[in-house]
Amino acid sequence: MQSKYPNRKAVEKIQQSNRILLVTHIKPDGDAVGSLLGLGLALQESGRQVQMVIEDGIPLSLRRLTGSDQIRKKAEGEFDLVIVVDCSDLGRVGKALDGKPAPDINIDHHITNEEFAELNLVDAHAVATAEIIYALLNDLELSLTPPVAAALLTGLITDTLGFRTSNVRPETFYLVARLMETSVDLPELYRRALVSRSFEAVKFWSFGLAKLEQADRLVWTSLTMNDRRAANYPGRDDADLINVLSSIDEMDVSMIFVEQPNGNIKVSWRAQPGFDVAVVAKEFGGGGHAAAAGAEIPGAMQEVQDKALERTRLALTGGRHV
Ligand code: AMP
Ligand code: MN
Ligand code: MN
Repeated sequence: MQSKYPNRKAVEKIQQSNRILLVTHIKPDGDAVGSLLGLGLALQESGRQVQMVIEDGIPLSLRRLTGSDQIRKKAEGEFDLVIVVDCSDLGRVGKALDGKPAPDINIDHHITNEEFAELNLVDAHAVATAEIIYALLNDLELSLTPPVAAALLTGLITDTLGFRTSNVRPETFYLVARLMETSVDLPELYRRALVSRSFEAVKFWSFGLAKLEQADRLVWTSLTMNDRRAANYPGRDDADLINVLSSIDEMDVSMIFVEQPNGNIKVSWRAQPGFDVAVVAKEFGGGGHAAAAGAEIPGAMQEVQDKALERTRLALTGGRHV
């Protein structure tokens, strides 16, 4: 498959480098980890030293991907190339790059990407960062091993919610077919990425579902630190409850408010095609895609809910452009 990305400069830079640092966003999802591992393992195969860093480490559900045990929480040593994957802005990497050189290459697919690196491989039409990584590996003429293919497929499966998002195109399936040819187990990767969940996760949902509200085609709920403790749920995220909310027929936009250990409120938005919640998230210092966006907002739960709901309602009713 011929690459459509302007990767020549990135290829040159990578070919001239030997000690490469790869980082991705805090609270990593399947695309963050899959893109990091897909690129990292392929570069290691080519004989380069690669360090892969995620400030938060990696969630249990992704630990069966080959190479995940190499991912560390802090970068150590010197590097001649720094690559950031699946991050719309540098704040999203947390402290992973503290004391390290500014990023050389930024590989991402968020519409809100701030093009913060010297070289920016950003394509908002890509369904996942893993799609851009695949094209780059192709241009680098690196071999597609089963662990690399499994990592990239995990990225594609998670960010498309199992090929259900409106940005999925015929090319997505050509890419999936090419990755499957390495004999990776697609149903098993799919099950691990999207289907299997812990008892504690579903118990955590029950607290959010009990508080579910709706008004004007907007559906929302909240999860507090108390809910988290009561459910014994270990993550700082919403355990994917937002995807249950966005399956509700009566909604154009769904939102979830998740209290964080630092007192901030993490807000997630999901929208039906035709709405753009990235614009709203960006106003609150976050970002994302038209159909899925997030922001971490300081303030008390009720205050953040009032502000974010009001702004989102305005966007929904066309009071401001979306
Ligand atoms: P989430 O609601 O966390 O699943 O995120 C939905 C989308 O928004 C993902 O593409 C995230 O990368 C992006 N996103 C979430 N939180 C932030 C943030 N604080 N800043 C920028 N982008 C974000
Ligand atoms: Mn991501
Ligand atoms: Mn992504």
